[in-house]
Amino acid sequence: MKILTIGGQTVEKGQRKKINLDVAKLYDHTEMNIPVEVIRGKKDGPVLFICAAIHGDEINGVEIIKRLLGHAALKRIKGTLIAVPIVNVYGYIHRSRYLPDRRDLNRHFPGTPNGSLAAKIAHIFMKEIVDKSTHGIDLHTGANHRYNLPQIRACLDDEETNRLAHSFNVPVMINSTIRDGSLREAARKKNIPILLYEGGEYLRHNENVIRTGLHGVLSVMHAIDMIESKKSKTTSSKIAKEVFIARSSYWVRAPSSGSLRALKHAGDRVEEGQILGVISDPFGQNKVDICASATGIIIGESRLPLLNAGDAVFHIATFEDSVAVEEQVDLFEEAIDMQL
Ligand SMILES: [Zn+2]
Repeated sequence: MKILTIGGQTVEKGQRKKINLDVAKLYDHTEMNIPVEVIRGKKDGPVLFICAAIHGDEINGVEIIKRLLGHAALKRIKGTLIAVPIVNVYGYIHRSRYLPDRRDLNRHFPGTPNGSLAAKIAHIFMKEIVDKSTHGIDLHTGANHRYNLPQIRACLDDEETNRLAHSFNVPVMINSTIRDGSLREAARKKNIPILLYEGGEYLRHNENVIRTGLHGVLSVMHAIDMIESKKSKTTSSKIAKEVFIARSSYWVRAPSSGSLRALKHAGDRVEEGQILGVISDPFGQNKVDICASATGIIIGESRLPLLNAGDAVFHIATFEDSVAVEEQVDLFEEAIDMQL
């Protein structure tokens, strides 16, 4: 690639540049733009975009990108890194998942130049970022008071995506091919291998999730030959010895209304019929157990103990061998803790 132009600005080889992508002003005429930092190595190589806060309240990814941008490994990269720490700038300001019209940006890709605000932003992002990239990583967290175990979601049927997903080095992966208007789907249609990293809780900085994500991103950059192995040895050490791909996943819902005392948490292995928590009324009466319907690993949990009957409480993934997955998750969490 000879010329790289983003938002009308050219980035030369060996240059590091901040660019603002213009998007619609606020109604008081405050200018709005999506901040981008481009780091172009002297040598040609892959073009990796990494983005966060497509859902404006999912801020772990913003912190991951912040730390990545300060990492020494970026001093000598091959190819180009396009970092977009906050895609949904409107939601980020309001600490909201959505755009001002309550649209979910991640349901409006690839977008159109003349549609809703969501469609317009999606279109700009595709044109200025995705179309110029060879690979992508999209960073998310649990929504709505939910905590997610660090996990990769990707179309694992694609060979290169599968290889990158393994290199990200988290114990749990979910093969996901849903058609939902997401950035991931739109990038995949353009044959750009893309990983979605999910971890932690919205509006929080979860240190283990941030460290895991940063590790993962550096490991992927190493796998696609953007950074040298020498530089990344400490950061891409094999934390997850084995990676497990979920066969399927299901939600356990509250069987009655009340407040929850959870007995199991993200990362725990649970067996079919096992009690995950107890829901009771404010007097501690009318206790109802909430139980797993199939053996698996908890990959997501509600952190809000106030439940109406039917609320989703635990997200459980099922595996061929859930005992082995739990061991890996434990080892993995220990390894991440040791680095704190
Ligand atoms: Zn999200």
